[in-house]
Amino acid sequence: MIFLNVKHFVFLLILGTWSISARGAFHIVIDPGHGGIDTGAVYNSIKEADLVLTVANRLKTLLAKDPQFLVTMTRAHDRNISLPDRVKLAEQSKADLFVSLHANAASDKRAKGVEFFFQNNLPPDEESLYLASQENQSALNARDLHVISGGDELSKKGDVAAIVEDLHRQNRMLSSLRLTQTLTNIWENDAAAMQATIKQAPFYVISKTSMPSVLIEIGFLTNPKEATKLKNNEYQRDLAEKIYNALVSYKEKIDNSAAKNLN
Ligand SMILES: [Zn+2]
Repeated sequence: MIFLNVKHFVFLLILGTWSISARGAFHIVIDPGHGGIDTGAVYNSIKEADLVLTVANRLKTLLAKDPQFLVTMTRAHDRNISLPDRVKLAEQSKADLFVSLHANAASDKRAKGVEFFFQNNLPPDEESLYLASQENQSALNARDLHVISGGDELSKKGDVAAIVEDLHRQNRMLSSLRLTQTLTNIWENDAAAMQATIKQAPFYVISKTSMPSVLIEIGFLTNPKEATKLKNNEYQRDLAEKIYNALVSYKEKIDNSAAKNLN
């Protein structure tokens, strides 16, 4: 009985969120990874922190022109910002969506393509874990990592609170998965685009934010062919446009769901 009530409550909660989104601008936090003394990956004369900031600024320009969106950047220039501060900024601005931009590096120079990461309950594969630890860098200690992956936080709370939290998390993960699927569709519809895959990993920023989130690895700096593309202005613009188009499509889906539920 309690379970049904809780489910009902969460449904209303979700519906409430959608209604608010449908009324006002859809608030997106763009998070260009790294910055300042943290350069991120550096290969083939590309600094990850600079590249993702450039693409983020292009994306911001596109979103700012569209009245249905409101944009906040975690950093607008080359500066240090900790992972917890990025999450705090997203939480304080009560954003509807969190989009983190990164660029990949691999020991195998043949590794290529765009990767979309979302957080879910499944055990992450080893490669994703390794990448997550690289991106999380020194900002995390072992305890933080445990909190991200562990479920023991829930057991300390009351049953009802735990169920509410669980349903809320499931809804957030489902939305995040839908977002990654929307992004993948955009890439798949362009025959010339790099291959796109959906993965999951316990990245700090997408694990700790309470709104749907995605971490996009825009390409491999270690792949010489891809590095050449990533340096190209035209290509950077195309990347930003693809992400923008996916966000428009995702917002449309949310609006349609809200309309259906309100009828
Ligand atoms: Zn990175």
